[in-house]
Amino acid sequence: MTRDLAKYAKEKGIKYYMISFTDLFGAQRAKLVPAQAIADMQEDGAGFAGFATWLDLTPAHPDMLAVPDPEAVIQLPWNPELAWVPGNCVMGGKDLAQAPRNVLRRLIKEAADEGLHIKTGIEAEYFIMTPDGHAISDEYDTAEKPCYDQQAIMRRLHVVQEICDYMLDLGWGPYQNDHEDANGQYEMNWEFDDALATADKHSFFKFMTKSVAEKHGLRATFMPKPVEGLTGNGCHAHISVWDAPGDKAKRNVFATDKGEGPTGELGLSEQGKYFLGGIMKHASALAAITNPTVNSYKRINAPRTTSGATWAPNTVTWTGNNRTHMVRVPGPGRFELRLPDGAVNPYLLQAVIIAAGLDGIRTKADPGKRHDIDMYAEGHKVRGAPKLPLNMLDALREYDKDKQLKSMMGEEFSAAFLKLKHQEWNAYCRHFSEWERANTLDI
Ligand code: ADP
Ligand code: MG
Ligand code: MG
Ligand code: MG
Ligand code: MG
Repeated sequence: MTRDLAKYAKEKGIKYYMISFTDLFGAQRAKLVPAQAIADMQEDGAGFAGFATWLDLTPAHPDMLAVPDPEAVIQLPWNPELAWVPGNCVMGGKDLAQAPRNVLRRLIKEAADEGLHIKTGIEAEYFIMTPDGHAISDEYDTAEKPCYDQQAIMRRLHVVQEICDYMLDLGWGPYQNDHEDANGQYEMNWEFDDALATADKHSFFKFMTKSVAEKHGLRATFMPKPVEGLTGNGCHAHISVWDAPGDKAKRNVFATDKGEGPTGELGLSEQGKYFLGGIMKHASALAAITNPTVNSYKRINAPRTTSGATWAPNTVTWTGNNRTHMVRVPGPGRFELRLPDGAVNPYLLQAVIIAAGLDGIRTKADPGKRHDIDMYAEGHKVRGAPKLPLNMLDALREYDKDKQLKSMMGEEFSAAFLKLKHQEWNAYCRHFSEWERANTLDI
């Protein structure tokens, strides 16, 4: 039985629902609806003028409705009078094809029809900045290798612990928090879940982290490279595929106890290898989704950071438990895609993983040779592996060329995404920079 949001509000003391949806650029948009009006909205959805958001709609389009998914509701732990609930975008009685949560729901169903149930965990790194976003907030956080810095995390414990307390309350199974590899950077980890649940948690985590930081007069950012010269914000995704969704999952389809060998390499089953093969095959194109901003390309392909490593890939390669490649197999039955960054759209991240992986399974894609080398030091020795796109335009062109991935993601979605992202690239190109002046004035 679906949850009755009006009744739920009474039981939980919720005064307002925040009916939220995520647009193509990853922004969360919401209407704040008093609980007394939720019964109708649960049925009909909250109305939005789609053109006012990034969904490739015109001002003449009819209202877009965000119909709340009652199973995904989360009462805000820091303000229990409010509850966040992700909505599914509907127009003219039909799911809006290009809306990110709809793209993901469609792909989850496609995979499920083939008996594949994707589970993922993500690592959404973030920086805590000053409110204007120009500098890291902790002026004493200056070490050359600040990773796991015990004293530095204590200085931001009021933010980090508060967020972790909330994840404990929400039952997400958080298990560790640390100061990451850049000054001012943090990472918090919780248990993996079904792809849609992880996408919703990822969205809520960003909302929660920014809100808690703002409450403390600070600014949290997931921007891929917020500080020049420091390690950027990754959003690694760990992936496995199971025989059933949710608690019904019994068997990890990616796991094998065969060990080394042509099918059981690193404890990854044949299905796992094919799924990985799909990711490898579509990597340059899917970068348009996993690394969706101009700034994203200052994280991948980056020069060495002050800590000594970027921890981000530059080439389409895979390996075992080694963090210098695009894909790492940390242990049996799963692999880690290290390409995505903090700007990734939570729904499109999961969608593009399923799209590429499913195509890999259907076509029995070979992931190619594994490279067990330090890619940062010895990458030049690798022959034949494509370099990742150098900028956003490169990535958009790769995406546009990849007919299979475009069609898996949906023709309407792909057309809308490419159109809006090309517009964004053009706007960026029109922007004058100090670099141009410095290097062109005297020519
Ligand atoms: P690392 O920093 O070593 O890459 P983390 O511990 O920070 O790893 O994050 C690992 C993520 O992978 C967590 O979200 C965890 O729940 C998830 N994970 C672990 N096992 C699986 C699995 N079988 N399938 C999907 N995700 C998994
Ligand atoms: Mg109005
Ligand atoms: Mg981690
Ligand atoms: Mg990390
Ligand atoms: Mg990782």
